[in-house]
Amino acid sequence: MSASNKTAKDTAKPSMPFSCPMCKRAVQRANDDFPFCSPRCRTMDLGQWAAGDYRIAGESAPIPDDSESHF
Ligand SMILES: [Zn+2]
Repeated sequence: MSASNKTAKDTAKPSMPFSCPMCKRAVQRANDDFPFCSPRCRTMDLGQWAAGDYRIAGESAPIPDDSESHF
């Protein structure tokens, strides 16, 4: 009789480290400004949109190819 002592891997995982898209600093998922580290970075991102960095020329919006998009 082999006692397969399975280690429970799913014991309250610590929140995975995530990098702020703006400054690449680690940010917790619990952060109010997730995925940004701070309101400032969030605003910076909005600023990029406002500046027309992400132009959508009537075509399908470019889908960010992030491997982190599994919510
Ligand atoms: Zn940031």
